[in-house]
Amino acid sequence: MFPEDKNLEAAAEQLCATARWCAARGWVPATSGNFSVRDGERMLVTASGLDKGALTRAGLLEIDATGKVMAGEGTPSAETALHRVLYRKRPQAKAILHVHTIWNTLVSGRFEAAGRVTLYGYELEKAFAGVGSHESSVQVPVLMNSQDYVWLAEELERKLDEYPDAPGVLLSRHGLYTWGDSVAEARRHLEALEFLFEVEERRQAGGSF
Ligand SMILES: [Zn+2]
Repeated sequence: MFPEDKNLEAAAEQLCATARWCAARGWVPATSGNFSVRDGERMLVTASGLDKGALTRAGLLEIDATGKVMAGEGTPSAETALHRVLYRKRPQAKAILHVHTIWNTLVSGRFEAAGRVTLYGYELEKAFAGVGSHESSVQVPVLMNSQDYVWLAEELERKLDEYPDAPGVLLSRHGLYTWGDSVAEARRHLEALEFLFEVEERRQAGGSF
């Protein structure tokens, strides 16, 4: 775990280390995924098309509140619009992690029609900010996937209003967005969600308990 973020540059280094950790786990295959940190109006986000296994500070772009690139080399990902919605709707969030894993791809497809994945009765739910017991019900909304990022941004905004306590949002057969008030908290949420998605998907697929 990382110490409390001191400033945006320290957070950026933690973000790059977290992206490399995700790559080592096979969670951002084929240059997929994107990662950001922010401090007030300043936001740093991964440039499009980079191998996250080799991500360094040079791979981050500084974006202003309108999405314009203020500093850095490269093109922002189309998904940068979703980061901006998330930061607007979750004022406490300082870091956002987006990964394409096998388990989040499977579980999001399974629950696309239901519109959410419900996690209940698992000890690891306590990893989420504000959850103190395995008897809590944690809901993660599932959005239909789309290449229309204007539409997707509007849908995301609606889901974040509908599920104020969700620790993450899934895009169906695409991936997971999660966040935290620091890179360390976002990483804890990511690791817990991916663990729980694997458990839930294996349970559903195997028909056990
Ligand atoms: Zn994606």
